[in-house]
Amino acid sequence: MDKIIIKDLEIFANHGVMPEENALGQKFLVSAVMQCDTRAAGMSDDITRSVNYADVCKLISSEMQKNTFKLIEAAAERIAEAVLLKYKTVREITVTVKKPWAPIAMSADTVAVEITRGRHTAFIALGSNIDDKRAHLNGAVGEIAANKRCALKKVSDFIVTEPVGGVEQDDFLNGCIEIETLLTPHELLDFLHEIENAHGRERTVHWGPRTLDLDIIMYDDLIMSDETLTIPHIEMTNRRFVLEPLVQIAPYAVHPIEKKTISALLKALG
Ligand code: ATP
Ligand code: CA
Ligand code: CA
Repeated sequence: MDKIIIKDLEIFANHGVMPEENALGQKFLVSAVMQCDTRAAGMSDDITRSVNYADVCKLISSEMQKNTFKLIEAAAERIAEAVLLKYKTVREITVTVKKPWAPIAMSADTVAVEITRGRHTAFIALGSNIDDKRAHLNGAVGEIAANKRCALKKVSDFIVTEPVGGVEQDDFLNGCIEIETLLTPHELLDFLHEIENAHGRERTVHWGPRTLDLDIIMYDDLIMSDETLTIPHIEMTNRRFVLEPLVQIAPYAVHPIEKKTISALLKALG
């Protein structure tokens, strides 16, 4: 991917853990490496098709000066998010915040924090089999789209499916969406849980009836598992009610463990 690079932008600001730092301020050096496709701008020599680095410098300087953080970690996080929210063509940004005058009572060139943040593609499966199922699914889609850190890319049809797992209950309405998000997998899971809770989700019977179920199916080509989150969703390859809506919006997405497309996984279900 092409890169646009800003190196060691000098900004006087007031971040620091010590009160004197907040009162007196000091010099910070901020670098940003932005990954974006510059081909169209390069071929047309048209700045409106690129990221205007003068504007990015202004944005960085304003984020650095309008806040007073204890940590340069926080300053870096704020800058990365501001750039990603404003410049949709930036896929990923690495921000370095250096503190050349850090009060460490020893000699060092600088202390610095460097972080990389970017956009992630996630697929979310939605399900409901209580109350107005369509209203629950539409509501969830709207609430996800309203999060500034999530952009709704695609929405499948909502399909009626029979319950699986042996519990006697009403038919489900199921769908899938694709989003682009700045949230980490765990932040996304927490956000989805908030939405489920707002829709009165109760966890009484395992695989039982629910107003709203939101599962993370895939997140980029990430493979991970801990106590609260497994990605890709462990059951996705066995579930027609996930793969059928998913194939509508992402037939060529590849399952990172199976190394098969969604379309091939659905065919394999028979
Ligand atoms: P299933 O996970 O088999 O679809 P379910 O959706 O009915 O069953 P829930 O009660 O909604 O199960 O979720 C139980 C827990 O599963 C969640 O609290 C969450 O921590 C965990 N979990 C693990 N991986 C995922 C994932 N990829 N998406 C959503 N939740 C997950
Ligand atoms: Ca589920
Ligand atoms: Ca779930």
